[in-house]
Amino acid sequence: MLSVFDIFKIGIGPSSSHTVGPMRIGLRFLDEAKSAGVLTKAARVKVDLHGSLALTGIGHGTDNAVVLGLMGFQPDTTDPDEAETAVLRVREQRRLPLHGAGEIDFILARDIDLRGDIIPEIHPNEMRLYLYDSQGHVIFDRTYYSVGGGFIASAKQLATPAEDDMISLPPRGVHFFGSAAELLSICHDKKLSIDGLILENEDDMRPRSQTNARLDAVWCAMRDCIHRGLNTKGKLPGGLNVKRRAPSLYRKLEEAPLANEREQIFDWLNVFAMAVNEENAAGGRVVTAPTNGAAGIIPSVLKYYCVGDGEENADHIRVFLLTAAGIGMLFKQRASISGAEMGCQGEVGVACSMAAAGLAAVWGGTPAQVEHAAEIGMEHNLGLTCDPVGGLVQIPCIERNAIGAVKAVNAARLALRASDEHLVSLDQVIETMRQTGLDMSRKYKETSEGGLAVNVVEC
Ligand code: SF4
Repeated sequence: MLSVFDIFKIGIGPSSSHTVGPMRIGLRFLDEAKSAGVLTKAARVKVDLHGSLALTGIGHGTDNAVVLGLMGFQPDTTDPDEAETAVLRVREQRRLPLHGAGEIDFILARDIDLRGDIIPEIHPNEMRLYLYDSQGHVIFDRTYYSVGGGFIASAKQLATPAEDDMISLPPRGVHFFGSAAELLSICHDKKLSIDGLILENEDDMRPRSQTNARLDAVWCAMRDCIHRGLNTKGKLPGGLNVKRRAPSLYRKLEEAPLANEREQIFDWLNVFAMAVNEENAAGGRVVTAPTNGAAGIIPSVLKYYCVGDGEENADHIRVFLLTAAGIGMLFKQRASISGAEMGCQGEVGVACSMAAAGLAAVWGGTPAQVEHAAEIGMEHNLGLTCDPVGGLVQIPCIERNAIGAVKAVNAARLALRASDEHLVSLDQVIETMRQTGLDMSRKYKETSEGGLAVNVVEC
């Protein structure tokens, strides 16, 4: 089974598939070259970006992320300021300290080739990497895919279909579930909540105390991200001149805590979500939840409902994260959480579903009610396209997370107020998302070739 920490990964913005994944691929490529005994002979490295990675790669910072990976930076430990300085040095000096091999010549515009005209068949986020020796001969090459949420795979891993087209389950965890129906069935048989079941799976991977410490660290990273976003003014990078809105809205809310009482819940959810996504757009430290583009929804709902008067309810935070991760695993296993494959329904839609489930669990919902909340959270995001203006993770992404956070709360309310039975199951809605994603035109899947990305520029 996937772990909670496969779903929630600490990294840097602005994109899990276009920043975190490519950084990890750069590092993995060099590790494999080292294992093959060729790394020390490398005199040049070249990286080809295909499909969505090329079409929105500049706006998403993919070129910089590749450089960082080749230098040995890892997403979870990278300091954003240090990373910016390191990339600037490479650009200016045209020299790259290749991880494990020493410095080589490197001209970014020459050695990272963006080929948006090549549309890969296996997955839209394809990277081909080559090492050359001093005579210009290719001594090592590999093809990898960044498949969403910071997950990566080799060509071989993606090209080999699982037996009988079923998802193969590695021996991790004690409760194996491949669908929401199976998840609910195990909960019923073992008399477990969804978070309790996920926690027992995590127990199979490490001691409980370590799991709790890591859950707390995930929340700390989310909380710190909200804090930075609420307190950092200015414009976001990338050339669209988008002004950060979270700091001014936060100041207004702090100055008039009792104004606008009935709708103020929206303001708080909006400001927390936008704070995270503005930090993400600025390349700051972010937790995939389940992706960077959709990273604001879960922290926003968590902060509003699990932190009261500055006091954090650690138990509620853990229940929320474990439950949300369990739902995220279902989407990852049965469909995809990649905007390049599914459109934004696979990012913001999934985050909304996960947050709705987490909140329903914190509110004391049964596993069936939690499943219902997750189902509603996705049902009303079906068909959501990905069309980021200028290839940047800013418009519509930042506001979309605010809307997603409010929608998640409503989904949890609807589920807890509903009768026991509901006609549409979570499994059905996940399958519907998958089929809709497959049918969706490529223009609306993180290519910036359609939708807002075209019309806003034309206006
Ligand atoms: S529109 Fe949605 S899927 Fe596309 S980059 Fe923005 S958040 Fe990600």
